[in-house]
Amino acid sequence: MAKKKRQGAPPFTLLIVPHTEYSPISFRVPVGLLYLILALAMAGLVGLFVFVVKYRALQAELSELRYQQQMGISRQNEMRAIILDQEDQVGKLSAQEEKLSRDLGELDRIAAEVRRIVGLDRNPTPTPRVRPDSTAILGAAFGPEVLGAMGPSPSWPRPERVAISPSTRGSRTTAPGLAQDLEELGVLMPEKLQEFNLLREQVGERVARVDPDKRSDPAELERQLRLYDAAPRLWPVRGIVTSGFGYRTLLEQRDFHEGIDIGVWWSTPVRATQDGVVVFAGWQPPGLGWTVKIQHEMGFATVYAHNSYNAVKVGQRVKAGQVIAYSGNSGKSTGPHVHYEVHLNGVPIDPMKYLEH
Ligand SMILES: [Zn+2]
Repeated sequence: MAKKKRQGAPPFTLLIVPHTEYSPISFRVPVGLLYLILALAMAGLVGLFVFVVKYRALQAELSELRYQQQMGISRQNEMRAIILDQEDQVGKLSAQEEKLSRDLGELDRIAAEVRRIVGLDRNPTPTPRVRPDSTAILGAAFGPEVLGAMGPSPSWPRPERVAISPSTRGSRTTAPGLAQDLEELGVLMPEKLQEFNLLREQVGERVARVDPDKRSDPAELERQLRLYDAAPRLWPVRGIVTSGFGYRTLLEQRDFHEGIDIGVWWSTPVRATQDGVVVFAGWQPPGLGWTVKIQHEMGFATVYAHNSYNAVKVGQRVKAGQVIAYSGNSGKSTGPHVHYEVHLNGVPIDPMKYLEH
């Protein structure tokens, strides 16, 4: 048995020789143990190989994950930067939008001031050159009573189109709210432009009525515009002017005609030519017959004479266009007509100066 074992697998000796005075150490190692060591070493190598492969795979996976994480973080940072930038822009736009709204309010205030100076706030003369769409503007500018006179307006009122009031505002700190406000401003701007163009036309028309030499001084211009606004501009009756204002020769006598004569048939309704208060309604000697006198603002007064019938009483408030008498031939008159006078601070002036053609 022992011999067979020796033949098949002879042992060998492992000799360790130190480089000193010590004697060498020898190990007798059986071959079986060598195989075992080799097998263990092989197994260890295989295990190490597997470990290395797995480790590298894990490492690759980990670096990929790290890469993705970093990409994610950078994208997140990018997004955050974009969001911050957008928030900043929204904030700036919001501030701009707020300023625009304030400016619009200021423009409205200036327009109202101009209207007040020119007198358009009391007696608006809306030009027909307005598109039906702009009734909201006119509503804001002149009020519903004027629009009512202009005819039915299905779109009035539309306050949300007229101004962006704080109550109708969306949350301006959010982009959709801001977008909505900006859209409203975008709609409002052309309308405002049209409104101001209309106002410019109206102011131009009124300024054109003032004598050029009275336009240079702003205070005088304002007074003249107010005067024009308060002036009686309507015709008491529609007819031919048979006799003008001023000196005329009647029956070889020079005579100052303090008004104009408008030829009309009997019982034609005579209308107040401006808002005012009736200060006289009765028989006016020597020659005016049945007469009505109305006091207006800014020192204006109007006289309507030779009536057949007076329809108002002293103290009564009348509106421009209201029927105050009926035409006739009373007093010193050669035929039915209306004798119409305009006084300014007690002095008769030519009614034609203010009459609208
Ligand atoms: Zn007369």
